[in-house]
Amino acid sequence: MSKKYQEEYEAGYSPRLVMEEASRCLLCLDAPCSQHCPAGTDPAKFIRSVRFKNIKGAAETVRINNALGAICARVCPTERYCQEGCSRSGIDKPIDIGRIQRYITDFEAATKMEIWEPKPLNGKKVAVVGSGPGGLTAAAELALEGFKVTIYEKDAQAGGYLRYGIPEYRLSNSVVDREINRIVRLGVDIALNTRVGVDVSLEDLEKENDAVVISIGSCKGKVLPMFENNRKVKLAVDWLKQVKSRKGKVKIPENVLVIGGGDVAMDTVTTLKLLGCPHVTDVVYEQFNEFRASEKELKSAQEQGVTIIDGYIPVGTARGGIVKFKHRIIPSELKIKADLIILAVGQCVDPTGLGLEINRGEVTFEGNHLKNSKIFVAGDIAHGEKTVVWGVRTGKEVAYAVRQFVRGK
Ligand SMILES: Cc1cc2nc3c(=O)[nH]c(=O)nc-3n(C[C@H](O)[C@H](O)[C@H](O)COP(=O)(O)OP(=O)(O)OC[C@H]3O[C@@H](n4cnc5c(N)ncnc54)[C@H](O)[C@@H]3O)c2cc1C
Ligand code: SF4
Repeated sequence: MSKKYQEEYEAGYSPRLVMEEASRCLLCLDAPCSQHCPAGTDPAKFIRSVRFKNIKGAAETVRINNALGAICARVCPTERYCQEGCSRSGIDKPIDIGRIQRYITDFEAATKMEIWEPKPLNGKKVAVVGSGPGGLTAAAELALEGFKVTIYEKDAQAGGYLRYGIPEYRLSNSVVDREINRIVRLGVDIALNTRVGVDVSLEDLEKENDAVVISIGSCKGKVLPMFENNRKVKLAVDWLKQVKSRKGKVKIPENVLVIGGGDVAMDTVTTLKLLGCPHVTDVVYEQFNEFRASEKELKSAQEQGVTIIDGYIPVGTARGGIVKFKHRIIPSELKIKADLIILAVGQCVDPTGLGLEINRGEVTFEGNHLKNSKIFVAGDIAHGEKTVVWGVRTGKEVAYAVRQFVRGK
C-alpha cells in the first residue's frame, strides 16, 4: 500500500496487540529499560500497568515523568535508549516500548485525562527562550511547581523542530498541538513572533524575571563552502520546514540529490518520495555500517526506494546542477546531476543578539547555569545528545536547577 506524507507511517496498536506486546515483557527486577531512558519515563512501570489492563495508571506514569510523552513515543530512537536495555533482545526481539507508550498516550488523549495538578502560584517568574522540547519541558515542570512562566518564541507557532522539522508522517502537528495545549492549560503564556535579542533583550528578561531558561536549539542549517550562493541548493531544515508548514503542498522536481546520512537526511529523502519525487539519490560520507541515522529512519528511506550511495565526499560542482564526489578510501569518482540539491550536513546555533559565547557553532558553558547570571540552558545547546528525549531530560534538569537557585541553594 502506498504511503502518504500526511499519514502516520507506522500504525498504532489495537487494544489486543498492545496487550500481546506488553505480555512479552519479562518484568525484570532491575528494569534495564527504565535505566536506559534519558528522560526517566519509567517504561518498566507503565508496561506492568498495561499488563494489568490499567491504562489510566500507565498514562499517569508516562505523564508525570515526561511532559512530551506522546511525542517521544513516536520519535525516540528507542534502539539507542530504552529498547537497548531490554532483556527480551537476548531471546528474540526487544519490546516495542515506543509503540506501547504511543497507545497509552493516545488513550490519555481519547479519554481527555488531565493528570497534572499544578501547585498554586509561588510569586516567582521565569522566562523561557525557545519553544522546542527543552523549553516546553522546562516550562511545564516549573509551572507545575507554581512558577509563572512565559515562553518567548521567534516563530509564528510553538514547537521548534517538533512543529517545523520532524515530518508529518512521523510526527503530526495535531499531536504537537495536543502536547503544547496541555502545557498552556497549566497557565504557561507563549509570546509568539518574539525574537529574544532582537524584539526583546535578554538583559530586560533577566531584570523582569527570577530566572531565564534558554533553549534556542541548533536551528540553522550548515552550508559546505562549495555550495554557497548556488541557486540549486537548499538546506534540509529550511526545506522540511517549508514542506511541513504547507502540509506537503510544495513543488517537487524530477531529480533530487541529498547530501548527508543522519536523521535529517533520511527525513528529507523519505519526504521527497512520499510527495512523489521519482528520482531521489542520497550520497553519504559514512559507510553503511557507520550511518548516524536511526534504524527506523533508514528503513523507511529504503522502503521508499531511495538510492543511497555510501562512502563518498563532495569535492566540487559544475554548471547545470552537477556535483562531483570522490570515494573516501578507494580511487573512485562520481558525477551526479540534479534539479535540486539538498544539504543535510548538520545544524548550528544562531545566537544573534543574545551575546552568548560561541565556539565552532556551539554555545560554550559549563553545566546548565551560566556563571554570575540568572541564565540557564536546556535542549540541544545543553550538554548531551541532540534528541527530543534529551530535550525533555535537560528541561527537567534545568527546572530543578532553577528551583534550587530561586530558593538560594
Ligand atoms: C528534521 C529533523 C528530524 C529530527 N528527528 C528527530 C527524531 O526523530 N527523534 C529525536 O529524538 N530527535 C529528532 N530531531 C532532533 C530534535 O528535534 C532536537 O534535538 C530538539 O528539537 C531540540 O530541542 P530544543 O529545545 O533544543 O529546541 P528546538 O526544537 O531546536 O527549538 C528551538 C526553538 O527556539 C526558537 N528560537 C531560537 N532562537 C530564538 C530567539 N532568539 N528568541 C526566541 N526564540 C528562539 C526557535 O524558533 C525554535 O522554536 C530532529 C531534528 C530535525 C531537524
Ligand atoms: S521516552 Fe523514549 S527512550 Fe524513554 S521510554 Fe519512552 S520511548 Fe523509550
